[in-house]
Amino acid sequence: PVILAIESSCDETSASVITNGKVLNNIIATQAVHQKYGGVVPELASRAHQQNIVAVVDEALQKSGLNKTDLDAVAFTRGPGLMGALLVGVSFAKGLALALDIPLIEVNHMQAHVLAHFIGPSQPSFPFLCLTVSGGHTQIVLVKDYLDMEVIGQTQDDAVGEAFDKAAKVMGLPYPGGPLIDKYAQQGNANAYKFSQTSMPGLDFSFSGIKTQFLYFLRDEKLKNPNFVEENVADISASLQQHLVNMLLTRLIQASEQTGIRDIAIAGGVSANSGLRNSLKAVGEKKGWRIFIPAFEYCTDNAGMIAMAAHYKFLKGEFSALDVTPLARMPI
Ligand code: ATP
Ligand code: MG
Ligand code: FE
Repeated sequence: PVILAIESSCDETSASVITNGKVLNNIIATQAVHQKYGGVVPELASRAHQQNIVAVVDEALQKSGLNKTDLDAVAFTRGPGLMGALLVGVSFAKGLALALDIPLIEVNHMQAHVLAHFIGPSQPSFPFLCLTVSGGHTQIVLVKDYLDMEVIGQTQDDAVGEAFDKAAKVMGLPYPGGPLIDKYAQQGNANAYKFSQTSMPGLDFSFSGIKTQFLYFLRDEKLKNPNFVEENVADISASLQQHLVNMLLTRLIQASEQTGIRDIAIAGGVSANSGLRNSLKAVGEKKGWRIFIPAFEYCTDNAGMIAMAAHYKFLKGEFSALDVTPLARMPI
């Protein structure tokens, strides 16, 4: 099947064309408008999606060398995400499906992050574990089949991407700060500063404690030296990053031991983090895991992963009615 997929759950407007399971392209328009606010402003995101969506979809179609009339279905992110942002994609997809008289396919954004692993040549076998780490989620997913997944551990408060972004914000770095912390961390000493862990039951996570701990740590150090952050940005970034990565890997090791599963994948925006990638490879070698890490362009929000999920839904005949509505919260 030939499917056009649209992603608009947060601050990336993206479109992708997939033919018979092969992602042909992945056009992404990132919204710069949020940078000066230190976080995504929902109303501005919604407006930017409206401004970008036609051009992004046109480009995906054009680069695929196909026409609208070649499409067998239109897919879109139904949720989870920002309601106003999702609405733009859902409405656009509906309009197109109605005009072309082809079926609609709704996709769960978090399922799609996991299914990004089936875009490339190196694919995990079922069942596998996927640590999905993004701006809004931190979960360990037991993946039984393409469309059969179970969350076996998750954050009880903030997402790890949020912890990266908020820590960056208190250091005075622009949004999104995760990639900047990653960049500075590469020149820093990860053992320069120590942070303490909050204990959580089972396979769950908590990242709100480290956020406050980090805030007070900087406040106290700045009282002693007003230029503390500027002078030590690399060491601070490296130490914080290592702490967050250790929290993630501790749980992932437990999940692998509990389930006996050793095909281990990571997904979501934070899976772009070089510290996480390197530590995961090191742990994987020690534990005899097969490690799966998506290409950078399929880590953060993108329509390629939505297209991949839509492909499997098409094969199963899972289509949506034209009165489908977006869901801000949507279980996997
Ligand atoms: P969700 O998928 O949960 O709805 P989202 O769509 O905002 O949330 P993504 O686009 O998948 O999430 O990921 C964005 C997050 O990834 C941001 O918090 C960003 O800081 C973080 N991120 C991206 N690259 C890196 C990196 N190299 N190191 C650390 N964090 C990163
Ligand atoms: Mg984003
Ligand atoms: Fe996402």
